[in-house]
Amino acid sequence: MATQKKGNKEGLTRRGFLKTTGSVALAGVAAGTMLTGPRKAFGVTKMPDKWDNEADVVVIGAGGAGFSAAIEAAGRKAKVVLLEKTPVIGGSSIICGGALTFAGTDMQAAQGIKDSNELFYSDMMKVGENQNIPYLVQTYVDNQMETYEWLKQLGVKFLKVGIASGMSVPRSHYVSPGDTLKILNDKAKELGVTLVMRTPAQKLVMDEKTGRIAGVIAENRGKPISYRATKAVILTSGGFSLNKDLLAKFVPPMANAKAINGLGNQGDGLKMAWAYGADIQDMPYIKATFGFTLDPKTIAKDFSLVFYQGAIVVNKEGKRFVDESKSYKLVGDAALVQTDAMGFQIYDSTIREKGISDPLGQTAGLEERGLIYNAPTLAELAQKMKVPATALEATVKKYNSDIEKGIDSEFGRKTLVASFGKPLKIEKPPFYAFPSTAAILGTYGGILINDKTQVIDVFGNAIPGLYAAGEIIGGMHGAAYMTGTAFGKALILGKLAGKSALK
Ligand SMILES: Cc1cc2nc3c(=O)[nH]c(=O)nc-3n(C[C@H](O)[C@H](O)[C@H](O)COP(=O)(O)OP(=O)(O)OC[C@H]3O[C@@H](n4cnc5c(N)ncnc54)[C@H](O)[C@@H]3O)c2cc1C
Repeated sequence: MATQKKGNKEGLTRRGFLKTTGSVALAGVAAGTMLTGPRKAFGVTKMPDKWDNEADVVVIGAGGAGFSAAIEAAGRKAKVVLLEKTPVIGGSSIICGGALTFAGTDMQAAQGIKDSNELFYSDMMKVGENQNIPYLVQTYVDNQMETYEWLKQLGVKFLKVGIASGMSVPRSHYVSPGDTLKILNDKAKELGVTLVMRTPAQKLVMDEKTGRIAGVIAENRGKPISYRATKAVILTSGGFSLNKDLLAKFVPPMANAKAINGLGNQGDGLKMAWAYGADIQDMPYIKATFGFTLDPKTIAKDFSLVFYQGAIVVNKEGKRFVDESKSYKLVGDAALVQTDAMGFQIYDSTIREKGISDPLGQTAGLEERGLIYNAPTLAELAQKMKVPATALEATVKKYNSDIEKGIDSEFGRKTLVASFGKPLKIEKPPFYAFPSTAAILGTYGGILINDKTQVIDVFGNAIPGLYAAGEIIGGMHGAAYMTGTAFGKALILGKLAGKSALK
């Protein structure tokens, strides 16, 4: 397994390092600054003389990862506090598309879909262009079936299995995110988890004698409040899509991309962990997802991936610019550099019919809201789209003739999506055009953890008492993400963190 980093060059353990130097300050990020600056300057916070509250485990952020961690720990008889910054639970998890990726399930078997951990692992590495950390992908794969069964036992209903980006067989298992979060919330309540709303965690506290993360300073009604964690603090505070400064720092081209996320996704947990030297992984690999309407009022809900059912994507000049079978994140990259950062999904009535049975390919609701153009001929469609008719006709003609020959001579599209399905000709009127853009739905880079979800510092050592799971971590996806593995990662690693934290 593992490209997991080993200890620092000098062979010092984190604890030994602290003992040798006699200074907690040296455990921070930038050694030069640390040697001269005061402790507070880089966030290392002194233990309070008296803690306001105490639990075995303090979990920061009540989204999918936070609830999974809290339930798992509470189910093992731990006293758990779950802090939530905003007035609502669920973060991005509760507004997500509900795709969860599992391999080898009963639902797949019932549909004759042959899948396995090995195939899943190799698909994940392929879609991540082998930039993902192997031991993290293996950790997902090793723990996924247990989490699937656990969710079923809790009462989560899996509605459908579908194909989506990066998969060589259908393995996206769809749930209602709202129902799922309600089930998790109810279970946490039943197990006695103390959920504290409107209480953002602000700083982690380290026990200076042991070098262990000992608790959290949060804020409640404008006042600081401390929570001691006798066993562990688990960071599940989500990503940083809504923090323009962090986006500008790590992924400048994304700083002004539209973002659709839970309101609390501002990178708080990342900063708290960085203050103690947490390492980072995959920060530049933030991609926007293609397939959203251009209408800013409804962008959060008006979305279709009809290109995975066979549509092509053309720009305002009426030309294709990408292999549409690629991850919608890579299609997003290509769309963001076209005129007005957009592309039209172009399809015919056959492809429209196919999309109706796919959760991500449906266009009926979008048509009802007037977001899709249609016309009996491509020339009339082009007029409505305000693109040159001759260019659009030529693009479709060339594509159809290439499909007939079995070779997309322009962009090499061989399938509908990833390695699944055969491309279709666009030939049966009426024709349709969905003007679409790309939006950031999450950040895929973050802090580094090991295969037990312990946070790893810049010297390769686990930070004692500190765990992390969900969108806050980096290294799982590499260059691009397979649909369903972000919400999946939150639930799977959250559960694992709840278990590991008590060992
Ligand atoms: C529109 C949309 C569609 C998506 N669709 C899919 C999909 O179909 N499949 C998929 O796999 N992924 C999808 N994703 C991504 C996926 O939903 C997320 O990556 C995943 O749910 C994140 O879970 P999480 O628990 O790590 O974070 P979140 O669910 O975002 O929860 C983090 C929580 O921490 C809280 N918090 C933040 N800072 C603090 C603090 N300082 N103190 C206390 N609390 C704090 C936040 O308010 C939030 O409640 C989608 C995302 C979006 C936005």
